[in-house]
Amino acid sequence: MGCSHNMLGIRGVLDYVMSHLNPDGKSKIPLGHGDPSAFECFRTSIHVEDALIEAIRTGKYNGYSPADGLPQSRRVVADYLSRGFPYKLSEDDVYLTCGCSQAIDLALSVLAREGANILLPRPGFPQYEALMAYKGIEARHYDLVPERGWEVDLDQLDAIADSNTVAMVIINPSNPCGTVFTHDHLAKVAETAKRLGLLIISDEVYAHIVFGEKPFIPMGFFASTVPVLTLGSISKKWMVPGWRLGWLVTCDPHGILRKSQIIEGIKKLLNIVVDPSTIAQAALPQIIKKTTEDFDQQTLQLLSQAADICYDRIQKLNVLYCPAKPQGSMFVMVKINISSFVDIRDDIEFSAMLSKEESVIVLQGSPIGLKNWIRVTFAISPSVLEEGLDRITAFCMRHAKNT
Ligand SMILES: *Cc1c(COP(=O)(O)O)cnc(C)c1O
Repeated sequence: MGCSHNMLGIRGVLDYVMSHLNPDGKSKIPLGHGDPSAFECFRTSIHVEDALIEAIRTGKYNGYSPADGLPQSRRVVADYLSRGFPYKLSEDDVYLTCGCSQAIDLALSVLAREGANILLPRPGFPQYEALMAYKGIEARHYDLVPERGWEVDLDQLDAIADSNTVAMVIINPSNPCGTVFTHDHLAKVAETAKRLGLLIISDEVYAHIVFGEKPFIPMGFFASTVPVLTLGSISKKWMVPGWRLGWLVTCDPHGILRKSQIIEGIKKLLNIVVDPSTIAQAALPQIIKKTTEDFDQQTLQLLSQAADICYDRIQKLNVLYCPAKPQGSMFVMVKINISSFVDIRDDIEFSAMLSKEESVIVLQGSPIGLKNWIRVTFAISPSVLEEGLDRITAFCMRHAKNT
């Protein structure tokens, strides 16, 4: 399986894990992918649903939208993302996309050129590797260090970047680590990128999904040090990934991206790619304005409890280990103490057997860069999560060496 896995993306890898499900087995528990919307407790806010219905009822949004997105919606995103920034984004900095996925695709496409390479986090989000392979961009990996709360290995950035390195990707809050970078650490990342002459692609699809002591700090905050392409969407915070609406935002107070033709490149690409649905775009201002504190607090509280349950129960098993308690996003990385198992050789076997025997789906670590780790999502209803952890516990006890 090995290397071809890198090209599958998360869905492809999970298809592989699920192909081991026993049809006569227990009910499936999806701890693999991050889509909590299937659970009633994570249903989006009524105001979000109303915003879309109202957009439809106006009858004004049945047509195509401008290539960059509806101006009023771009403006609202600019204001929303500028909160707390040392400068203000304008609507011209915002391009609406089909989810954060298309924003990733556009950011990579506009940077693709002969010989170029981009620095990616390891562990990371395999869609980057897969898209870069298609675009002929070389992927180089820098490590997130578990012993340091999954912070970026800054020295390694220096070691792997060269004159063909055009950008680095940072994912904050982190998928798959569940960590949130501090202001100080992000400042150091920005300084390093500046010194190396890179721009930063900041995947903030989990922006504001934080429930530990660290606040979420947008990378755009440091855009006067280094230009930033901020990527985001309504998929995760508002729990509507099926609506396919996101954004690519150029945080470029010194006009560096403009001078280097990157903005022109983005505009050209947007003329030829598919646009996000106009009704979803039209609903965006109300989605952002009307989501109540209540909804945010409620979701964050649920995620926080779920993260605690997941972390505490895994730490009790001496064959699995989480180096850091999740403080954001919906995931945690779990290390498999593989030498403690009798008949499981690696993470690929671990996840396939867990799927077969217990109908619990987890993402293997290998395809996201870490062999003998798994990624677990805790963004599911608490009772199902508990059941999933019970089954993981039983599975581990069955396969661990007697000590
Ligand atoms: C889910 C996810 C995306 C894709 O977001 P969509 O808005 O659903 O396209 C991008 N990056 C990361 C890190 C994600 O977890």
